[in-house]
Amino acid sequence: MTSDSQLLIAGWKAVSLVDVHGYSSFTLWTCGCNLKCPFCHNWKIANIDSSICKYISVETILEEILASSSLVTYLHVTGGEPLIQWRGLVELFKKTRGIVLNSLNSNLTLYVPLKRLLELNLVHHVAVDLKVPPVKLYGLPPSSVERLWAMFLKSLALLRQHHVLVELRIPVHRGLTRGVLERYLDQVRGLLDPEKTVVIFNQLLGEPIVNPRNREWCRENCFPEEALLVELAEVAKSYGFSSVHIKSIPGFPQ
Ligand code: SF4
Repeated sequence: MTSDSQLLIAGWKAVSLVDVHGYSSFTLWTCGCNLKCPFCHNWKIANIDSSICKYISVETILEEILASSSLVTYLHVTGGEPLIQWRGLVELFKKTRGIVLNSLNSNLTLYVPLKRLLELNLVHHVAVDLKVPPVKLYGLPPSSVERLWAMFLKSLALLRQHHVLVELRIPVHRGLTRGVLERYLDQVRGLLDPEKTVVIFNQLLGEPIVNPRNREWCRENCFPEEALLVELAEVAKSYGFSSVHIKSIPGFPQ
């Protein structure tokens, strides 16, 4: 039996230094996702694999957060797509008020749940991928991608309206040219406050470093040249973003 006081999760890390840029976090992985990104390396969590996903009470999670609270700035909820379980998140985030700040890692395609959380002032930081082109990265039929992309744009606008800090992560694959990135930055630039946005270019990784959902897709598209990330970072700066960072593994591709 499930209730709003439970969350379906895959686990947590009591103190993480890598999940929120520049800050420490208690990181919680929730199960289930509405997208099927081919590069996803948390696809077992996204698919609600019964060997790793378990229901746990919000109270139990809160006890664990309290134990780490002196060491972390944020509770960072990732997944999967946490907004699928937005009612449980409301319960959790209400209880962490005054203890830690709340950070959400979301694909931002579930607009209404996001709106509920923001209206309650429960979210301080959002990490989100700019998955472009979405028809290639969402892993869903083109007929659904258009609607989801529209929800993504609407959600970005909502974050700006609520003055939420945004960590815009850009997964870089071999097909992400300067022209493609510019086409999508044109759409999102006005929806982001450059003062409240950190842009991070992430080199998409495949085997043997991670276990992606679609290995064949990753063999073709993952491990872009580092030079491409450097070029794209310059593009982002030219759009007025001053906090731009690159995450790549030196030496790849081989
Ligand atoms: S990368 Fe994120 S949004 Fe995409 S399927 Fe995996 S968990 Fe879902």
